[in-house]
Amino acid sequence: MIAPLMPTYNRADLAFERGEGAWLYTVDQRRFLDFGAGIATSSLGHNHPRLVAAIAAQAGRVMHVSNLYRVPQAERLAARLVDASFADSVFFCNSGAEANEGMVKMMRRAQAATGHAERTRIICFDGAFHGRTLAMLSATGNAKYLSGFGEPAPGFDHVPLNNMNAVRDAIGPDTAGIMIEPIQGESGVNAATVRFLQELRAACDEYGLLLGLDEVQCGMGRTGRLFAHEWAGIRPDVVSTAKGIGGGFPLGAILATEAVARHLTPGSHGTTFGGNPLACAAGNAVLDVVLEPGFLDHVAARGRTLKAALQALVEERPDVFETVRGHESAPGLMLGLKCRVPVAEIQQAALQEHLLTVGAGDDVLRVVPPLVVDDAECREAAARLSRAAERVRPRRQEARRLQAAAS
Ligand SMILES: *Cc1c(COP(=O)(O)O)cnc(C)c1O
Repeated sequence: MIAPLMPTYNRADLAFERGEGAWLYTVDQRRFLDFGAGIATSSLGHNHPRLVAAIAAQAGRVMHVSNLYRVPQAERLAARLVDASFADSVFFCNSGAEANEGMVKMMRRAQAATGHAERTRIICFDGAFHGRTLAMLSATGNAKYLSGFGEPAPGFDHVPLNNMNAVRDAIGPDTAGIMIEPIQGESGVNAATVRFLQELRAACDEYGLLLGLDEVQCGMGRTGRLFAHEWAGIRPDVVSTAKGIGGGFPLGAILATEAVARHLTPGSHGTTFGGNPLACAAGNAVLDVVLEPGFLDHVAARGRTLKAALQALVEERPDVFETVRGHESAPGLMLGLKCRVPVAEIQQAALQEHLLTVGAGDDVLRVVPPLVVDDAECREAAARLSRAAERVRPRRQEARRLQAAAS
């Protein structure tokens, strides 16, 4: 008989009762080091006093009023994001998929409003992940996720990452823009090169296209800058973000330049929950911490510690780990360990060592801790991964021995 909670996930048989910083506790007081952060979402870790106080205080006043009225918390959060980024204006929603939907709508709408109604197609990349709505499944383009859900939504073309010739070949008279994750998360922490992002910007300018960045995972401080594209020194037209922006409270945002945003006139786009007082109180509390002087430098420094520890691990266990994946110049706290064994095996072994991580495509283990971790915790995570590798290796050797004996 089917479970009352619809079985759409392969869940680990673990339930956490409370958390503290980078640590999570089960009811029976087992303690886990959380280097998955709820899929790069619990940016301030667990039970962060500022975030908890802000949410509790706002919940005690007013949680939701709808967008029929002014929401001062949203006005403040938008103004702060504008001050700290390329953007002139911000739209709030509730999730990453929704932010990407809105980003694509904005790109199409801006093209239509400037005399190019035929420009509707979006160039996306192999290995992309943009979310699970019908249109974003199509933008994602992964056959596994599309299977059984009918005709893919039209309007999305896919080309290989970091291949400018392929991008130029794909640009046609009906191309509206390009949508790219500066660092792909789900497909295995594959980063666009700085040069590629700069060339995409130049191509967009040349052909009158809009550059939309999906920073749902890599944005909001994860790379040691507020947004990952800052490392490339480019100005995008529109950026989507979600995951870390609410520190675990559901919140998404679309940041845009005035040239794009001004076409989303009243009535053209909307949401019931998006940007409500409670969500924006959470967003403001996260920004309080992330924009504190020195915080992003702290993230970058912890990223260097973690990368060095993972690189040492690869050298120590070349039979289990192949390489460390991440941004070329700015790894921050979005790293991947390319495994020589099925990633589920190493993830399971890490769980036995009380370390939480996230699997990704291409047998890559995603290592995405809360942004508030310290150096000792980064080294502890690497030590646990070393012990996890130790658990996996004898089993692999045994399997190989049996295989050889059988043949
Ligand atoms: C997680 C993610 C999404 C989807 O976000 P949801 O909140 O699950 O809808 C989209 N793009 C990227 C890059 C993501 O990592």
